[in-house]
Amino acid sequence: MTTIVPVSSRLSASMMHNPLLISSILEHAVRCHGDIEVVSRRCEGDIHRYTYTDAAKRAKQLANALKAHGVVEGARVATLAWNGYRHFEIYYAVSGMGAITHTINPRLFPEQIAYIANHAEDEILFFDLTFLPLVEAVAPKLSSIKTYVLMADKTHMPAAPKLPNLQCYEDFIAGHAAEFDWPALDENSPASLCYTSGTTGNPKGVLYTHRSTVLHTYGANAPDGFGLTSDSVLLPVVPMFHVNAWGTPYMCPAFGCKLVFPGPAMDGASLYQLFEQEGVTLSAGVPTVWLGLLNYVRTNNLRFSTFKETVIGGSACPPAMLREFEEIHGITVVHAWGMTELSPLGTVCRLKRAQKLLSPEAQFAIKVKQGRSVFGVDMKIVGSDGKALPHDGKAFGDLYVRGGWVCAQYYKETESALIDGWFPTGDVATIDTDGFMQITDRSKDVIKSGGEWISSIELENLAMSHPAVMEAAVIGVAHAKWDERPLLLVVLKPDASLTAADLLQFYEGKIAKWWMPDDVVFVAALPHTATGKLLKMKLRDEYREHFSAQ
Ligand code: AMP
Repeated sequence: MTTIVPVSSRLSASMMHNPLLISSILEHAVRCHGDIEVVSRRCEGDIHRYTYTDAAKRAKQLANALKAHGVVEGARVATLAWNGYRHFEIYYAVSGMGAITHTINPRLFPEQIAYIANHAEDEILFFDLTFLPLVEAVAPKLSSIKTYVLMADKTHMPAAPKLPNLQCYEDFIAGHAAEFDWPALDENSPASLCYTSGTTGNPKGVLYTHRSTVLHTYGANAPDGFGLTSDSVLLPVVPMFHVNAWGTPYMCPAFGCKLVFPGPAMDGASLYQLFEQEGVTLSAGVPTVWLGLLNYVRTNNLRFSTFKETVIGGSACPPAMLREFEEIHGITVVHAWGMTELSPLGTVCRLKRAQKLLSPEAQFAIKVKQGRSVFGVDMKIVGSDGKALPHDGKAFGDLYVRGGWVCAQYYKETESALIDGWFPTGDVATIDTDGFMQITDRSKDVIKSGGEWISSIELENLAMSHPAVMEAAVIGVAHAKWDERPLLLVVLKPDASLTAADLLQFYEGKIAKWWMPDDVVFVAALPHTATGKLLKMKLRDEYREHFSAQ
């Protein structure tokens, strides 16, 4: 039995309690990596280049400007912007002064943008040139925004502004001092706000604290995580409006990594040019963006000269994509899993020492998993009775997590989001004896056929390993006898041809017979959410009658 030592006889701890603050990241970057570059492709079309020292000066000018404008601690300051240096300055100025950076996803429907901005009670909206028409259209529905700031210089301001109190970013900060004493905030005070994509119901806000952000910065950048160093050059393709670009705008200055922002140009040609020009060593993004880049380099028979690793998450990385990166380009794919509620990083798939000695195929079977939890996140899987399941790589159940950067309660909600201290992720997964987690499905996407579960992700991955297939989605469609049966929807690669019978033949021997999709539909494109995930709800609606109509 554990002996409980009375408080009076415990030694008092002798360590400092320095609050974990976002402002300390930028200050550290100035002290130790002040000359490291931040390069941005701007909406204006050109390339902008400066250092962390310059970024800090401008962030301080912006903090002074915001203060002069009446922004106080706790106020919400929204952005609708691509990855770029002005967005980076806003991240640090707003959170650093004690206000809250609220990044809004511009790919959401205008009604959702209005809902989110009103729910957050945003006071100022900073936006990129690209989004001027969007902001003008949605502005009449925004009830709390008093000031609009266009993230550009004077020459790009509209001649006849339609927005009330529209300011120009460069004028907004001009004349303000490049010195600012970052306040010594409570580390538990809120720093930034992201809403979930809300594929069902209204989006929910996750309000990160300074402490959770700094802890995530340490945890996510551990050597078996992103592992960025002062030798690295990172180009985050994942947008700064998608869970703070997975925390990379904090990791890079904290660890002295050069940062390359792609701005609005996410097409294969523009990305490739920037990767080569800036000597990018590492990148991060969802599978759909890599489809475009890989397609471009394949068609033009190109190779990368410095690109070594890419972190892929947000949706399952198709094994065919993993092979193309690794076998053709020699680029290591680091599969990762996370969610808005986890700031976002939960797991990263890097092989352990002994696993690197396995055969290439055995290594590959591990790499397609979502990986081990980073230190700071605990995971468990539970069955329908709520009991924990074994970590044997076979049992699958609902994935629960807990840790210092996991959401406990959604913004403005009164009820806890937790069950017995754990956050239910809504994902269904296995965990093996080495701690590697593998997602089999989102719980609402699982296909239930005759009382048994079929993994849609596994069927999609197989379809995408066919050379003619560009993208695939598998959904459960109502079936008179089996409740649900899998329907496979396929987008072919340009100029490829394939019949349904050929594709089903391709599945033969690779899956249990009863997992075989009942039909294949070839489509021109598949719908995606604002963060690049397959929008299965829409597909389920569209194909609801598919089997009954046959
Ligand atoms: P979001 O909050 O928009 O980032 O979405 C989080 C959800 O994306 C997770 O709960 C998963 O369902 C899914 N997801 C994220 N990463 C992966 C991955 N590597 N493999 C499969 N699903 C993923």
